[in-house]
Amino acid sequence: MKYFLFFLFLLIGNLCLLSQKKINFYEIIDTNKIKANLMVISHDSLEGRNTGEKGLNKAANYIVDKLKEYGCKPFENKFFQTYNLLNKSKSGEININGKTLHFPADFGFNGEYNKIEKRVENFEIIAINDLSKLNSNKNYIVKIENISDVDEFLIPNDYKGTVFFITKNYNSSYFTRQTKGLTLIKEERKVLKIYINEKSLKKHTLKKILSNKKINCNISLNKTKELIETQNINAFIEGSDSLLKKEVVIISAHYDHIGVENNEVFNGADDNGSGTTAVLEMARIFQMLKNKEALFKRSILFLWFSGEEHGLLGSDYYSKNPLIPLSNTITNLNIDMIGRKDTILEKEKELIYIVGGNRNSVDLHQINEQSNDDKLTLDYKYNDVNDLLRLYFRSDHYNFAKNNIPCIFYFGGFHEDYHQASDEIDKIDFEKIKKVTNLVCNTTFNLLNSESRPVFNK
Ligand SMILES: [Zn+2]
Repeated sequence: MKYFLFFLFLLIGNLCLLSQKKINFYEIIDTNKIKANLMVISHDSLEGRNTGEKGLNKAANYIVDKLKEYGCKPFENKFFQTYNLLNKSKSGEININGKTLHFPADFGFNGEYNKIEKRVENFEIIAINDLSKLNSNKNYIVKIENISDVDEFLIPNDYKGTVFFITKNYNSSYFTRQTKGLTLIKEERKVLKIYINEKSLKKHTLKKILSNKKINCNISLNKTKELIETQNINAFIEGSDSLLKKEVVIISAHYDHIGVENNEVFNGADDNGSGTTAVLEMARIFQMLKNKEALFKRSILFLWFSGEEHGLLGSDYYSKNPLIPLSNTITNLNIDMIGRKDTILEKEKELIYIVGGNRNSVDLHQINEQSNDDKLTLDYKYNDVNDLLRLYFRSDHYNFAKNNIPCIFYFGGFHEDYHQASDEIDKIDFEKIKKVTNLVCNTTFNLLNSESRPVFNK
């Protein structure tokens, strides 16, 4: 009798799960776990989780420890996808007719080399439209308004001289960002381009330069490169359908932030501790459901990216070195900053900004709308093609959109602590994280089991 009841219970239990159209994720999501994880991820001891630094590696090890605790497995036995970045730094001086110009206030430069010491006297003045006609034995001066006006790819690849751009609206932060920044390893073009701040030149020097007179110019530039190792993290749950399991839904969040500046630790509790811990909670839940034999036809890959704050580098690397072919990646749902209210626009119901979705896939837009169970208001303000903040291009989902993969970026809204040392855990709204995680869980579940994959609309 006992055994009979036990088996009956087991049978009914399993039937319930198997036939279940909907799982109540909201009930299962554990905000205590999210909070406990966020306390570690946004702790001072992680030193702002800057890519390439030990604080980020501590965060990575913590995420893997938790995944192991939850019984999650990585794809092909490796939780880490390790990759290298270049940390470049630049310095230099240029002396023109006795006046010394300093990098980066007075000039900036680009080009592939480590060290340059040279003397240049003769320049030819050309218009910006003539960059494709440069002669290797000559040096040139081009007068421009903005650094971004220059399409360096117009310059012939084998050009060996020096091009000076006299820049009216020179912006040194363009180059300081580069000196601080990490980049993926890729070939740089050899052409030396120097952007001179027009305001840093004395009037008569500028006149001389622009009237094609001979000038004395000594250039001394240095560039150092340091190789940095970092990692994306993954967890994988294989689907149950023999055919559809080769298709995968990617759930992602970047786990890096911007480190320490002027002795202040930028803990990034919202950016993106909130997304990091939400995806960790999703991995726990989907693994638990899988263990209870809930059916997901397709597979799920959870990804935590590094390098996001330096220009979406982790997802860029992933999209060029995917664990599962991109052709089998049916959707990316990316979570970045979901732990704060939009203090300006949020009224009775909580808001979540949906970026992507119908911008690249009407199917995905509809699945996401149908997956929303009335706990949140979906807002499409930042999805407007004319939106000045261009959020569609600003988080990791974009590297999937670029590859024709339907994607949604879930974003909770800007606040006064964005990229400030004051983005701390005591301001986090865990109920909002829970509601957004619930929506992403529902959307994921529907994508895993839907008849067909969402179509990407160009
Ligand atoms: Zn972010």
